[in-house]
This record gives sequence, C-alpha cells and structure tokens, in this order.
Amino acid sequence: MKPALSTIIADIVAQMGEATDRGKVADYIPELAKVDPARFAIAIATADGDLLMGGDADIGFSIQSVSKVFALTLALGKVGDQLWDRVGREPSGNAFNSIVQLEREQGIPRNPFINAGAIVVSDVNLGGHQPRVAIGEMLRFMRYLSGDDSVAINEDVAASETATGFRNMALANYMRAFGNVRHPVDLVLGTYFHQCAIEMNCCQLALAGRYLMLDGRHPDGGRVVSPSRARRINALMLTCGHYDASGDFAFRVGIPGKSGVGGGILAIVPGRASIAVWSPGLNDSGNSCLGTQALELLARRTGWSVFSPP
Ligand code: GLU
Repeated sequence: MKPALSTIIADIVAQMGEATDRGKVADYIPELAKVDPARFAIAIATADGDLLMGGDADIGFSIQSVSKVFALTLALGKVGDQLWDRVGREPSGNAFNSIVQLEREQGIPRNPFINAGAIVVSDVNLGGHQPRVAIGEMLRFMRYLSGDDSVAINEDVAASETATGFRNMALANYMRAFGNVRHPVDLVLGTYFHQCAIEMNCCQLALAGRYLMLDGRHPDGGRVVSPSRARRINALMLTCGHYDASGDFAFRVGIPGKSGVGGGILAIVPGRASIAVWSPGLNDSGNSCLGTQALELLARRTGWSVFSPP
C-alpha cells in the first residue's frame, strides 16, 4: 500500500531538517539576503480539493521569478499568441539574467521565464497604463487564484531591487533599442520588480497554481485559461522553468516547475497536484537547493511524473 501523502510530507520535512548543505541565500537583492536560511516549507493542493502542508508553510517569502508564470498567463490573455512574435519558447542554456543571446537574436529573449523574457511580458502587461494599474491587476489575479485577499507586495524588496537591478536595466534598455520594449524602461521595470516582490506562503502559492493542474480551470468553476494554454504553460515550465538547470530538473523531478531566487518553486502534476516548496538557500544554478531535493523525493515517493502513465 502506498503511504499517505501526509506521511510523505512529514518524512520530507524531517529529512530536509537534517540537511547539512542548504545552498546559499541570494544576496544580489540586498533585502533577500536577510531571510533565514534554515527555513523549509512544502504545501500540496490536490485535485480532490485537499491542502496538505509541512514545515514553515505559513511563512511568506518573495516569490520572485515564480511570478513569471502568472504574468505570462495574464499577457497571453491580453495579446494571445502574438506574444510569441516577441518572446521565444526555447530553453536558454544561459543564466537567468544573461544578455548574450539578445544581440544574436535581435532583442528577442529565448523564453518568458528568463529575466529578459519576463521584462517583455511586463511591457505587454503594462499595455499603455501606469505601473500601478498593471501591478494592481497582477495582485488581484494572485488573490483570486489563491482565494486569499491577504496576498501583498513586499515594498522593501521592490525598493531593494529597484535600487540595485542594474542588469535588468541593461536588459530592458537593450531590448528597447530593438523595439521589443515599448514603454519607458523605468515603467516596465517598476512593474516587473513589484511583480517579483509579491510575497506569498507555500499554501497560498500551491493554491494559486491549481488552474495549471486542472487544465486551466479555477476550482470555483471559472476558466482561467483554455486547456491547451494550460498545457503549453506547463510545457514551458518543464523546459524553461529552472534557467540553465531546466534539463536537470526535468530529469530529476519529471514534472513542470518554476523556481525563483527567493527560494520558492511551484511544481505542477497535471490532474493531480499543485505543489509549492520553499527554502531560501540556492544551488549553483540559482534554484532552491532543498526545494529541488524535496520535489525529487516527493516525485520518487508518490510516483508522480509527466513521463509515466497516471
Ligand atoms: N527579481 C529577480 C531578478 O530579476 C528575479 C530573478 C529570479 O527569481 O530568478 O533578478
């Protein structure tokens, strides 16, 4: 008999508690460096409507690049497949903040989950409005998806990144030179930095990801995206969700996932579960060290994989 999911979660929390190598907390955004590296959390929202959790699952963290999944969902809702004229769909094979491919590829970022791609997505989501309109829309979307009106932006993190995000400024300016960023750069980055600074706990994040396990439906019955769009977002998470370690994540874990430098990962098992893990220490590729290990363990213990029959 398979062990209950709650037992598996308890085992994972215990095992992660004993880990000696927890990676290194991101410090290039000064505010993120203040987070306690000992934290670990996991939450699983199942297709049956259960929510299971372990560790620090009620402590909020900066979702950072995990927000790129939700920003992409909004942008596709606005401009549909025209987005793909401005952003590619290929794994980058480069670091999350790399500029090298942009010159070769005429200012078209490789995918929407590296910084350059997410900045173009923010440009689309701005849509001629002021950043506060686009940021408000994003926040309302996150609250709707998670069913929790307390989801908010950590203004200290947004300010910290605004003060130090020189590489993102370079990326945005570079793409503006190619006409692929169309609003003033400070407005686009204001939108992007605030979206990255959304703070959520693992329970809220797992709940927010449910539409991706439910073929695009919100559990309240509303349609967030079409089934084919949900599958495509999952495909992008699998192929591009972990920067230049995306192949390794697919190999080790075998389900779509998107990580952020705050140490969070959202992972989706279509038809079964939306999972959020968080541990702030990162491995060399900038992905949560314990978060990745926990998901690998979870996949092994549950048999969840997009590469095996349900
Ligand atoms: N706000 C971060 C940046 O742009 C996001 C990076 C990440 O989470 O990977 O540098």
